[in-house]
Amino acid sequence: MISVEEALERILGEIHPLPTTQVPLAQAPGLVLATDIVAQEDMPPFANSAMDGFALRSQDSQPRAGQPPRLRVTGGVAAGYVADHAVQEGTAMRIMTGAPVPPGADAVIQIELTRYDGPESAWVDVLEPVTAGNNVRPAGEDMRRGQTVLRQGTELGPWEIGVLATLGVAMVPVTRRPQVAILGTGDEVIDVDQPLAPGKIRNSNSYLLAAAVERAGAQPVRLGVARDTVESLREKFHLAMDSDLIITSGGVSVGDFDLVKKIMAEQGEIHFWRINMRPGKPVAFGHIGQVPLLGLPGNPVSTAVTFELFGRPVLRKMLGHTRLLRPQVEAIVEDGISERASRRHYVRAHVTWHAGHFVARTTGNQGSNIMTSLVDANALLIVPEGGAEIKAGETAQALMLDWPEM
Ligand code: AMP
Ligand code: MG
Repeated sequence: MISVEEALERILGEIHPLPTTQVPLAQAPGLVLATDIVAQEDMPPFANSAMDGFALRSQDSQPRAGQPPRLRVTGGVAAGYVADHAVQEGTAMRIMTGAPVPPGADAVIQIELTRYDGPESAWVDVLEPVTAGNNVRPAGEDMRRGQTVLRQGTELGPWEIGVLATLGVAMVPVTRRPQVAILGTGDEVIDVDQPLAPGKIRNSNSYLLAAAVERAGAQPVRLGVARDTVESLREKFHLAMDSDLIITSGGVSVGDFDLVKKIMAEQGEIHFWRINMRPGKPVAFGHIGQVPLLGLPGNPVSTAVTFELFGRPVLRKMLGHTRLLRPQVEAIVEDGISERASRRHYVRAHVTWHAGHFVARTTGNQGSNIMTSLVDANALLIVPEGGAEIKAGETAQALMLDWPEM
């Protein structure tokens, strides 16, 4: 048996980031930037007002003989337009938030600090003095032309997408999104819209995996279920040959695996490991033709856990991420873990922050066929190899499944 770390290292050693491409901005969320992004313009591109108010010369706002100065209003400038004349001494222009500051003006006073009788009025009283630059957002305040604004390797989330939109990057250079073929196996497995028949179970794994693949940022393609025959497997694999990764579930237990092995020998190469973990001991990894294949065990919880431990880092590496692994924290295990396993045990749990500590509660029956105990789990508690009991109130490392990778 090999350790989880060794399996992960061997798998990731065979995986490389996909080629770079350009995608429309709206398709870029979740992808990873393939190049630095350098601003081609100043942002904002022009000095503009931070407030609704009046553009004026700051020296005209000083009180005269203790009285608020009265300035003549010569016009207005709305967002999206440019003033058709300059602000002269003793005058002001109505201005809206985001509108370019007219020439001649060096400040904006917000409307609340003036007395103004409305659009018909030709005069405004300035109730407080303002300094030069007041409420003016200078050109280039946010980004300067030539400045590197986003670095290669950055994951594009909403804020980064906003920056790219501001800079007019309509097509974004990214590492390509992996397309993942997902294949169920087994004569007992039927599709979700089929009525149950004696001996049959529904295909939970393919749907679970498709959702997990999508959450990892990749594009799943479900290929249905292969029967337990060489011909059926061969036919399904044939459909997957232009994928970036094939993920199978089931068919890697000792007897079954002979089938998969046959195809591998015929079409590629495969390594089959017993990994020193529970759930999810048997995992296969290799290639069919040039396409990497990750063969996960059939029990749904084993599928889920081995995908999180191996499949997700593989997809993140393909996507160009450098942070591949979920963070771990030390958590107090409120209810303890009495079940002892000689393999490393990943225990489904819900972790919260309470009174200055991470606190974990296990989510119930830990059998590898018990899907309901996945439902509320946001973490896997790691009980080291050798199987020590963790008493209530003792601590364990928690792998945080809902925290971003570090
Ligand atoms: P196997 O590794 O093929 O021996 O499968 C191990 C267990 O997982 C068996 O109980 C299978 O019925 C079950 N199983 C395999 N594939 C699926 C699937 N796609 N959905 C749900 N259960 C499955
Ligand atoms: Mg099977």
